[in-house]
Amino acid sequence: MEHLYSDRVKQLKASEIREILKLTQQPDIISFAGGLPAPELFPIEEMKVVTQKVLSEMGQEALQYSTTEGYDPLRTKIAKRLLNVGIEANKDDILITNGSQQGLDFTGKIFLNPNDVVLCESPSYLGAINAFKAYECGFKEIQTDNEGMVLSHLEEVINHTPNAKFIYVIPDFQNPSGRTWSEARRKGLVAIANKYNLVIIEDNPYGELRFEGEMIGSIKSFDTEGRVVYLGTFSKTFSPGLRIGWVLASPNVLNKYIVVKQGADLQSSSISQRELNQFLEMYDFDAHIANIKKVYKTRRDLMIETIKSEFPKEAEFEIPSGGLFAWVKLPNHVNTKEVLVKAVENKVAFVPGGSFFPNGGQENFMRLNFSNMPEEKIVEGITRLGKILKDVI
Ligand code: PMP
Repeated sequence: MEHLYSDRVKQLKASEIREILKLTQQPDIISFAGGLPAPELFPIEEMKVVTQKVLSEMGQEALQYSTTEGYDPLRTKIAKRLLNVGIEANKDDILITNGSQQGLDFTGKIFLNPNDVVLCESPSYLGAINAFKAYECGFKEIQTDNEGMVLSHLEEVINHTPNAKFIYVIPDFQNPSGRTWSEARRKGLVAIANKYNLVIIEDNPYGELRFEGEMIGSIKSFDTEGRVVYLGTFSKTFSPGLRIGWVLASPNVLNKYIVVKQGADLQSSSISQRELNQFLEMYDFDAHIANIKKVYKTRRDLMIETIKSEFPKEAEFEIPSGGLFAWVKLPNHVNTKEVLVKAVENKVAFVPGGSFFPNGGQENFMRLNFSNMPEEKIVEGITRLGKILKDVI
């Protein structure tokens, strides 16, 4: 049947993350590979109460089809919460999606023709790279430093890339690098997008998980011409299993996302949206997030301390001030895919950095998730990795 597949699908291959996630399901493995929240922090007892209430008070509605745009009370609450990242919005600016991953897929569908170019941070989120690739685009990686994209490089690339459509960025506690953009770079990015008539896709799943320092306004909050599309999600602050995220965009752009969602799956789950809305009404979501941050900060501190004491001195890293990931650079000759094979033999896993560079060629990085493993396993796993790294360096 090979010849029956579309060109689009022929060029897709299975994601490395998925293959690795399969390994991490073995119970005795210490995994820093996934991007999974800590399951012990899920509000299970509260969700039992909420589910009961939704089914008894609005059971028919919760089990029925509903509107593509999403459940209005939830959209209203999301709009209000966006003030936390400096965005003034109302419910009509928001479309509920099945996680922000769906927003990424729709972005590709809406903006990309074959051979168009996505401009992204180097490195960037593997899930977005794969979602966009399905639309047969190319990528140009823009250099980054600890303030975000290097804007002079971005501008230089734009000048040589007539078929660039959008700039995809994760400005807060980036996946995989853990880095956060400065305010100046955020404003500078908007100015460049305005100048060259490009769209910005701001993907912000981690922004509310800041452990220290002041919140920096989202890129969308500096948008002067309605050309920033903002993707949000409850996956990291509440539960990824509910699959609730959103797209915020100016009316004409949002309309495209709505039409595309109608064709994709009609709507997001009626019952999940009502359950989440009920949770937000009955419980203190900010207290819940504060608790998550406390646990993740402890885990981050422990991971960084153990990296400092157990990794070879050649390993370079920065301390992420929020989010889920630490990112380690090793000397050029180290191939972290090979390190992973040895690591898994020693029952510890991480994601080799190579696949976060859409154009390849950089195999000496590793992404380490610190949210999902309990404290004692963080120390044990990083110590094991340190021994392996000392052997290969
Ligand atoms: N964007 C980024 C940067 C992510 O790290 C993730 C999850 N790992 C997503 C989007 C997708 O998240 P979800 O679909 O669960 O909202």
